[in-house]
Amino acid sequence: MAVMITEECIACGACDAECPNNAIYSPGDAWILGGEEHPALSDDITYVVPEKCTECVGFYDDPQCIAACPTEAITHDPSRQETKEALLAKKENLDKIGR
Ligand code: SF4
Repeated sequence: MAVMITEECIACGACDAECPNNAIYSPGDAWILGGEEHPALSDDITYVVPEKCTECVGFYDDPQCIAACPTEAITHDPSRQETKEALLAKKENLDKIGR
């Protein structure tokens, strides 16, 4: 499953720097996938784009953003259940279309 950022976020950007998929954006910033721009998912807190988060599968054993967050604001999103195979396929698609 993708991860999500809760209201404990202080928008420090520590997670953003660690994400290998460029899946984390500052509040209000448009997000980009395959060169296409999309409206921000949050204007209030740093956010994760589920279409880009692979839980770091394909890069690392554990989600790097969770370890980097100083306020424990990042957690798995129970509404975004995905198998390891699906996450790897997502990573491979991102390799092709661009992050
Ligand atoms: Fe990025 Fe990994 Fe965090 Fe997903 S789990 S947002 S891929 S750092």
